Amino acid sequence: MNPIRLVIIAAFALGMSCSSHPPKDSAVGINGKLAVSGTQLVNEKGSPVMLRGASFGWHNLWPRFYNEKAVDWLVTDWKCNIVRAAMGVAIEDNYLENPEFALECVNNVVKGAIKSGVYVLIDFHSHKKHTEEAKKFFEMMATQYGDYPNVIYEIWNEPDYYTWKEVKEYSATVIDAIRAIDQDNIILVGSPHWCQDLDTVSMDPITGHTNIMYTMHFYAGTHKKWLRDRTDAAMEKGIPVFVSECAGMEATGDGPIDESEWNEYINWMEDCKISWIAWSVSDKNESCSMLIPRASSYGEWTDDVIKKWGKITRQTILDKQSE
Ligand code: MG
Repeated sequence: MNPIRLVIIAAFALGMSCSSHPPKDSAVGINGKLAVSGTQLVNEKGSPVMLRGASFGWHNLWPRFYNEKAVDWLVTDWKCNIVRAAMGVAIEDNYLENPEFALECVNNVVKGAIKSGVYVLIDFHSHKKHTEEAKKFFEMMATQYGDYPNVIYEIWNEPDYYTWKEVKEYSATVIDAIRAIDQDNIILVGSPHWCQDLDTVSMDPITGHTNIMYTMHFYAGTHKKWLRDRTDAAMEKGIPVFVSECAGMEATGDGPIDESEWNEYINWMEDCKISWIAWSVSDKNESCSMLIPRASSYGEWTDDVIKKWGKITRQTILDKQSE
């Protein structure tokens, strides 16, 4: 390309990103750039902030919901101040097999979140270790979105049978790659056994970086008080926690919703000011899917297309955001 033309295009792109201000009364308009202070997520004034929202399902299973209108509906009608793009790195048509389509889906959600003025998790939704692919992916994301206060990087959703040593090595590589480009946006680090082993994390945390938090995931039908106790102990040792995925049924994503245990978890997260994101905006015949198949891809979801779990999630967010 003609170098002069390249400079003009680069200047235009830079100008566009600098002139993009979040809507004034939006979550990002009010809270701005996030940081971690001690174990607490704080806004740009240093005050504690809680993010509450919904996760999209695997992009390769439910791509139809990965659009700006669905994001806007979750923000305006459900009052989410964060959404999560779960970029599938397993199952057919995943990021490794079809990166162009995966990036299109992620970009739709991130751009929707920027437009609506909410925070967004860019989630590398994998149970397996793909260090080089994750590194390249997050370099791309940091280059594209590192100047936006909206964006949070979730570098490994639910490592399964890896040790913390292995997860830590992976995380160090990906964090270094992100920090070479974006020095400040929050990075969420996973932990072994589907983000439950914060006890092992607390014995050997990542050092030398700021704005790092660790994810804990729970399914209230399976994970009872022991997981809250374990997480409390880690927080007491200085580990900042973000619940980037949770729900009320069993860990399979199916089975009955344990409303009383869900409420225990909600009360605990509110007391500890832990941000949380419910799983998921999808339409499978399982109890964690929030919608039925005839629900529109673009929001406008009325009660008759929202399943029990979707109604509980929406009501919990509405109640807590207004307190
Ligand atoms: Mg940044």
